[in-house]
Amino acid sequence: MTTPAKIAAELARHRTITTAYSKAGLCLRCSGLAARGHMYGWADLSDPCARCAATVAALPHPTPAEAWRALRPTSGGGHNDAA
Ligand SMILES: [Zn+2]
Repeated sequence: MTTPAKIAAELARHRTITTAYSKAGLCLRCSGLAARGHMYGWADLSDPCARCAATVAALPHPTPAEAWRALRPTSGGGHNDAA
């Protein structure tokens, strides 16, 4: 069962990661996608948009998704990525 406290924590984490990617130069859509990748896995993620693709390609860490790279090391799914 998902508790309200857990939902709030996940939303806060999603917002924190989104902000980090936004500061790295990604648009809001792609920043949100990257946050989803960190939290829930990269495999089913849409590709970054054309404007962000070059920025994403310059990020330091590989992910399981070919089109995506990450600001921080990522396991590719689960809830234990460093955020
Ligand atoms: Zn974008």
